[in-house]
Amino acid sequence: MIIVRDAPGLASFAGGVFVPTMGALHAGHRALIEHAAALARARRPSRPVVVSLFVNPTQFNEKSDFELYPRDEASDARLCEQAGADCMFAPTVETIYPLAAPVALPPLPEVATAPKLEDAHRPGHFAGVCQVCARLFDLVRPSAAILGEKDWQQLAVIRALASRIAPPLEIVAHPTIREPDGLALSSRNTRLAPNHRRQATALVKALLEASRHDEPTAAEKAGRRVLLASRIVPEYFVIRDAATLLTPAPDRPARALVAARVGQVRLIDNAPWPGFALPHDR
Ligand code: AMP
Repeated sequence: MIIVRDAPGLASFAGGVFVPTMGALHAGHRALIEHAAALARARRPSRPVVVSLFVNPTQFNEKSDFELYPRDEASDARLCEQAGADCMFAPTVETIYPLAAPVALPPLPEVATAPKLEDAHRPGHFAGVCQVCARLFDLVRPSAAILGEKDWQQLAVIRALASRIAPPLEIVAHPTIREPDGLALSSRNTRLAPNHRRQATALVKALLEASRHDEPTAAEKAGRRVLLASRIVPEYFVIRDAATLLTPAPDRPARALVAARVGQVRLIDNAPWPGFALPHDR
């Protein structure tokens, strides 16, 4: 595996299968990279696997969250190599945002501003995500990108962004990887104190409880009740149409989505609704 820091170094990896990340890689990212490797090897001709590591300053709306975001490049490089990456792209801020050539903000897909979801709590976040993804896609020139379902609204936003690229970039979704107790893996979990780590399992418990109700309002109430019982006041706990993230329609797939602060750490999770179960409960 080669570590690349600038645009010229990427030239031989064009057309690859791409996994964009902010680093601090865990088993969830590993699963995405392994998925990318399987896909890349199955293509004819086979493709390279490129993983990017870049903590994008423009998508953080809290300075402290950006500064406290965990970083460990040496351990990330080991994980990338073991999982089957051919190239780890770890650019400097100047490579992504050259002072001489400001990087445009692409038009924001509609799904980014679905009411009472991420945009209501992290204004400007998806503008930053779209800016960095458009720039990364331009530099890496992948044929496909693998994204996690863990960040469901981000997945919908990037799908919309990718569909506007010519030729459209293929987006492949990977299911959420969870701890044995159901907590979705996240780089931010390392910042949870032990008592908050225990409290954080309420998010997945709320998604499971909501899944037992097949009417959206009853499901939202049930999910919120579980969170409040663990002394967590959610930023949102909602049932939405899985694609538009607007009000669910009876004949279309729906999703339960949650965001909440546990201690100082903001966590998000989501699950198909209804019918969500953890693997060992099925
Ligand atoms: P991040 O660097 O954590 O912001 O995310 C990089 C990619 O990994 C995104 O596509 C995320 O959705 C995905 N990801 C993060 N956590 C998980 C997880 N627990 N399971 C699956 N994918 C994940």
